[in-house]
Amino acid sequence: MTGLDRDSAADSRLAALAVEMERATGVSPSVAHVPLHAHTTMRVGGVADLWATARDVATLSALVGFACDREIPCLVLGRGSDLVVSDAGVRGLVILNRAEGALVEDNRLIAESGLPLAGAAMLAQNSGLTGLEFGLAIPGTVGGAVWANAGAHGSDVAAVLESVTVLRPDGTEIVEPAADLRFGYRDSRFKHPAGEGSATGDVILSATFSLEAGDPDAIKVRLDEIRAWRQAHQPLKQPSAGSVFRNPSGDSAGRLIDACGLRGERLGGAAVSDQHANFIVNLGDATASDVRGLADLARKAVSERFGVQLDYEVQFIGDWSGWGQPAAAPTTPRTA
Ligand SMILES: Cc1cc2nc3c(=O)[nH]c(=O)nc-3n(C[C@H](O)[C@H](O)[C@H](O)COP(=O)(O)OP(=O)(O)OC[C@H]3O[C@@H](n4cnc5c(N)ncnc54)[C@H](O)[C@@H]3O)c2cc1C
Repeated sequence: MTGLDRDSAADSRLAALAVEMERATGVSPSVAHVPLHAHTTMRVGGVADLWATARDVATLSALVGFACDREIPCLVLGRGSDLVVSDAGVRGLVILNRAEGALVEDNRLIAESGLPLAGAAMLAQNSGLTGLEFGLAIPGTVGGAVWANAGAHGSDVAAVLESVTVLRPDGTEIVEPAADLRFGYRDSRFKHPAGEGSATGDVILSATFSLEAGDPDAIKVRLDEIRAWRQAHQPLKQPSAGSVFRNPSGDSAGRLIDACGLRGERLGGAAVSDQHANFIVNLGDATASDVRGLADLARKAVSERFGVQLDYEVQFIGDWSGWGQPAAAPTTPRTA
């Protein structure tokens, strides 16, 4: 992987790359300027070396192709709802995926990967198709949802996905059936790129969902139920990245964190949610280090008290090279 150190010597290289990128793709990237906290639901994180927006699949392919050709690290960002971006930001190119086209053919919904999954759920309802209602609960894109095998309310992407169109780092496009994507609990083959050392992994361009005919009014009732459940159970008014940890087999990460008395625990501007102990919320001025430090603190407490090693559900993205110092002491006493 070719890292781009953003020191003074690298600035001119970034500027030159930006010119090359515009020539090759027609997109003029921002250089060391766009703060990622503005593009993630956790609202933390520093700037991207290079930042570009793809509003259609052709542009997405062209940008990824450019990064692969020049071995620039490349991150495709959906809604940034499963990420904590480091305070030091992201080296290389970040592509904001806003390729949001979609169409319905018979019982199939075909969506470009930048479409919000909630938008796909609404389109399915309007088209009298059932199966994608759970997507209303997930504030990510179709691409991010396939990557994570996102799920809620008893269903997940694996249950309704027929196939995906994927862009490989060598520039080829393939259609892969869902059965080949190694789906598991919040897991897919996209989370485990084969070519360690390559600058970017496979990129999901579009997805085809196979749904069933249903009564639009009944589907709407289900969507309303899901919306109400989320509002009652999740801290939707505060920035977060959803569940921080995967649920361990047969238990719930939230229950374990709660049992350690950590509900309401704070570190800097980050807090364990009062409403859902597996959520860390940004109280307004949290840094990425606050969030990661608090998450590590919860993980350690659960390990010490229950002997359970929680695995992260959220992804820590960007330059965490300065990370690893002992976590700072909590700024407030435990509230529960
Ligand atoms: C309030 C809240 C509630 C949530 N509730 C749920 C829930 O109920 N169930 C659940 O499963 N999740 C939930 N999440 C987590 C999150 O919304 C999902 O994991 C979602 O699928 C992430 O999609 P995204 O577009 O935001 O991905 P991002 O966070 O932008 O990216 C996540 C990863 O996916 C990769 N990626 C994104 N797009 C592509 C692509 N096109 N091709 C290849 N890789 C790609 C990124 O590079 C990154 O590595 C919740 C999050 C929040 C904030």
